[in-house]
Amino acid sequence: MDKSYSEWDFDVVVIGAGGAGLRAAIEASSNGAKVGMISKSMLGKAHTVMAEGGAAAALANKDHRDSWKIHFRDTMKGGKYLSDWRMAKVHAQQAPDRIRELEQWGAVFDRTPEGKTSQRNFGGHTYPRLAHIGDATGLELIRTLQQRGIHTGMEVFMEYTVRHLFKKDGRVVGCFAYNRSDGSLHLFRAKSIVLATGGITRCWEVCSGSWEYTGEGHALAYWTGAEMGDMEFVQFHPTGMIWPPSVKGILVTEGVRGEGGMLTNSEGKRFMFDYVPEMYREEFADTEVESSEWVKEVVSGKLATKRRPPELLTRDVVAKAINSEKAEGRASEHGGAYLDISWRKSEEIKKKLPGMYHQFMELAAVDITKEPMEVGPTAHYVMGGVRVDPITQETSVPGLFAAGEAATGLHGANRLGGNSLSDLITFGKIAGEHAAMSASQVGSFEEIDEEEIDTVITEMLEPLGREEGENPAKVVEDLRVMMQNKVGIIRTRELLEEALDDLDDLEVRGKNTMSPGGRVYNPGWHQALEIAAMIDVSRMCALSALMREESRGGHTRDDFPSPDNSKWGNLNSRIKQVDGKMEFDYTSYPPIPDDLRNLLDSEDLMEEEE
Ligand code: FAD
Repeated sequence: MDKSYSEWDFDVVVIGAGGAGLRAAIEASSNGAKVGMISKSMLGKAHTVMAEGGAAAALANKDHRDSWKIHFRDTMKGGKYLSDWRMAKVHAQQAPDRIRELEQWGAVFDRTPEGKTSQRNFGGHTYPRLAHIGDATGLELIRTLQQRGIHTGMEVFMEYTVRHLFKKDGRVVGCFAYNRSDGSLHLFRAKSIVLATGGITRCWEVCSGSWEYTGEGHALAYWTGAEMGDMEFVQFHPTGMIWPPSVKGILVTEGVRGEGGMLTNSEGKRFMFDYVPEMYREEFADTEVESSEWVKEVVSGKLATKRRPPELLTRDVVAKAINSEKAEGRASEHGGAYLDISWRKSEEIKKKLPGMYHQFMELAAVDITKEPMEVGPTAHYVMGGVRVDPITQETSVPGLFAAGEAATGLHGANRLGGNSLSDLITFGKIAGEHAAMSASQVGSFEEIDEEEIDTVITEMLEPLGREEGENPAKVVEDLRVMMQNKVGIIRTRELLEEALDDLDDLEVRGKNTMSPGGRVYNPGWHQALEIAAMIDVSRMCALSALMREESRGGHTRDDFPSPDNSKWGNLNSRIKQVDGKMEFDYTSYPPIPDDLRNLLDSEDLMEEEE
C-alpha cells in the first residue's frame, strides 16, 4: 500500500476547531505564531455549534449583585468542591472580558431593554448569568470566532483526523493525521500543540454528542504520557429524546421543564415527588405543589412563589429518578418517561420553545403542543480529561497544551450549565497564548523518527488490508451498549468489574476488524481507527468509577450511595500510561487560600446543583 505522506511545519498546531480550538488559534496567531488548525469535521461543525443556553459570565447586567466571587463560589459548589480552585478563579474573573471581546468581534448577543448584553437564569447560578443569543448561542460563538480566526491568520485542515502525537526528549514535536475524504496521509511538525478535541460521550449508547465525540483527544494525550484526571465524572442530562431510535439521546432542553413540562410514568403518576432528596424535603412538605394546577399557576405567573416543581430538581436527581422508574417497570412506551407541556397554549409553546417544537415534529412526528414527549437520560458532558497547569494550560507533557472539554480541572465532579462555553473562550485564549510563547522558545523543528512514522502508518492501514475480521460498527455498537449498561448513571462494583473485563474482550475484537473498500471516503475505516481510543477512554472511566467508593456529582454508586467527605472530599483521581499500562492514583490540588475559602459556603458542600 502507498505509504507516502505530505509534510507540514507550524509553530503551533491546534487540534480541534470548536470554541476552545478556535480561541486558542486566534491567540497563538495574534502572538506571532504560524498556526495550523486540524479538525476531524468541517470548519463550523464542531460540537460547540450545538450549545443552546448560553455562556456564563458575571457581567452583572441583570442583577448588580453578581460578581466573579459569586460565580467562583457557584462553580466550586456545583463541582462538589473537587474543582481546581485556581482555574475556577481565573474563569470567574476573566469570562466577562471574553464575552465583551466576542461582542467587539461582532457577536450579536441578545440585549436588555437598556441595551446591555442580556443574561438568563440557569441551574446552579445564583444570579442571571448566561449571555445568550436566543437558543443558538453556540452557533453565534463559532461564527464569530471563525471569522476572527480566518482574519487573524491560520491554515485550516478540515476533515483531517489526528492519530498520533510524536515526542522527542520528552517534548511534543508533531502529530500524524489522515484526510478523511481522500485517505491521504500527513505529517505535521510543530513546536507546540494545543489539544482542543472536545468530549467522549459517544462511548455511551445514548448521548447528546455528535459523531466526533469518540474521545480521540483524550486518548492521544494518554498515549503520549500526559496525566489524565477525574474520569469517573460524566454528566447525564435527564432529558434526551428516546424515540425513534435514530434520534435517541438528542437533547431536550431543561427549558421545557422550566416552562411547566411535567414528568409522568406509565401509570400517569408525577413520580418526581417520590425522589425529593432529604435536603429539599421541606420545600415539598405540603401537598399544594403536588397538583398540576399549582404548576400551571406558577408558570402562568398567576402565583408568585420561589418554590419550584420537583421536575426542576437538579439534573442528576431527575436522571436517576427516571432510571429508577424504568427499573421498577413503570417506564414510558419506549423505556423512559413522559414529559408533557401540552397543557400550555399552542402559540406559547411555539414561541418559547421553537427549537423543541420543530425537533419533535420533524424527528419524531410528535406535536408537543398536543401530546407528551418521551424522554430519558443521555450522556452529555465529561468533567474529566487531560490535567493542565492552571496558569498556562500546559499538560504534564512539555509543549502539549489542552483546553475546553478535553481538559479537566474547572468543573470538578459536576459542571454548571453555561460554564462550558465560558471555559472554552477563557482557557482557549490562555492555551493559545502560552503555546505560542512556548513555541517561540524552541529553535528549529525537530526531525521525527522515520521508524515511528512507519509504525503509525502501518497500524493505520491494517484494517484496510485484512481479508478477514469483524465489522468495526458492530464492535463500536457493543462497546456503547456495554458502557450504557455497566458504566452508566448508576454504578456498582460488580458492574464496573464486568465492564473492565468486557473492555479487554472488546479490545481484542477491535484489533481485528476489517474495512474493505479502499482509503477514499471509507467510514468503516474511520470507525475501525476510532475503536482503540474509545476502549482506553472507557477503561479510564470504568476504572476511576470502580475506585471511587462514594457518590458525588456525576458519579453515583448504588453500593456507596452517599458522599464521603472524610475520605474522598479532596481527592482527584489521576491516570497515566506507564510502560503501556494504565497507572492509577489520587492527588489533590494545593490548599485553597483563606480569602477564597471564605467565599465558599462549606455547609452547602453536599447540596446538589446543575
Ligand atoms: P468541540 O466544540 O466539540 O470541538 C472539538 C473539535 O475537535 C471538533 O472540531 C472535532 O472535529 C475535533 N476533533 C476531535 N477529535 C479529533 C481528532 N482526532 N483529530 C482532529 N480533530 C479532532 N455548554 C454551555 O456552556 N452552554 C450551553 O448552552 C450548552 N449547550 C449544549 C447543548 C448541547 C446539545 C450539547 C451537546 C452540549 C452543550 N453544552 C453547552 C456543552 C458545550 O457545547 C461543549 O462542552 C463545548 O462546546 C465543547 O467545546 P470544545 O471546543 O471543547 O470541543
